[in-house]
Amino acid sequence: MKPYKNKINRIRSFALSLIFLGVVIMYLGIFFRNNEIIMLIFMVLGMISILGSVVVYAWIGTLSTRAVQIKCPNCGRHTKMLGRVDMCGHCREPLTMDPSLEGKEFDVAYNRPSAKKDSTKK
Ligand SMILES: [Zn+2]
Repeated sequence: MKPYKNKINRIRSFALSLIFLGVVIMYLGIFFRNNEIIMLIFMVLGMISILGSVVVYAWIGTLSTRAVQIKCPNCGRHTKMLGRVDMCGHCREPLTMDPSLEGKEFDVAYNRPSAKKDSTKK
């Protein structure tokens, strides 16, 4: 089994983990209630984490409108894909929008042809 997952599903689970992280951080803050400053830092960090997940969820919303809904050739269910290559959200079948990549080994790098240029700019 390859480690790649459907991108939208992956971002969604990331947003969900941010909420849990925020709750855990705020919960940890309760243990420091004797020290108001530390407790406040934990609370603020927790809030930032939860707000971050809200931002990520909003981002998923805009991504979903751009995502192409296709029928998976492997399991026959409908899934949304992003970029040139993505995985089916149900069976992890590699999917591609680019006919020239068809039949090739799945590689997430196909989505970022200019990734190296971007990293050198910074
Ligand atoms: Zn599928």
